[in-house]
Amino acid sequence: MTIIPQRRKQRFLCDEMLRKLGHWLRAAGYDTVIAVQGTRDRDLLQQAIAEDRLLITRDQKLTEYREAPGVVLLLHSNDIHDCARELRHILNIDWFYKPFSRCLLCNTELIPADPVCIEQVPRQSRATITTLFCCPHCEKLYWQGSHVRRLSKMFRQWMDG
Ligand SMILES: [Zn+2]
Repeated sequence: MTIIPQRRKQRFLCDEMLRKLGHWLRAAGYDTVIAVQGTRDRDLLQQAIAEDRLLITRDQKLTEYREAPGVVLLLHSNDIHDCARELRHILNIDWFYKPFSRCLLCNTELIPADPVCIEQVPRQSRATITTLFCCPHCEKLYWQGSHVRRLSKMFRQWMDG
């Protein structure tokens, strides 16, 4: 098993196969980049090194490069939920680190949205919204809705399991 010191900076680069896991890491508040489709292995490694990120993969091949030690984290689980649990065990990932503080699309930290943005929220959702955030980069709006409840429930299971 790969042992990564826990004090290591927790910034990640997920390979294409782990796109979903990457989105969940963002939802938990971790600075996570997802590999652009078709990026070559060597370029992925270079990106991880240049951006000081841990490259998370299930691809054994990536561990065979000279640069891999300390840069590549190989997950052994096949099921994506088990991968999430594996991350918690290996890296001490806290799935409630900074919940819903990053844009799921582009990884930018969210900021409170201008109250007038409520106009862009579907009418049936407006009444229950207490806080509205937006991404300063891609301008996507975020609010506490059913997806947040669903993800929170999932995160809870990973923390307990
Ligand atoms: Zn964004």
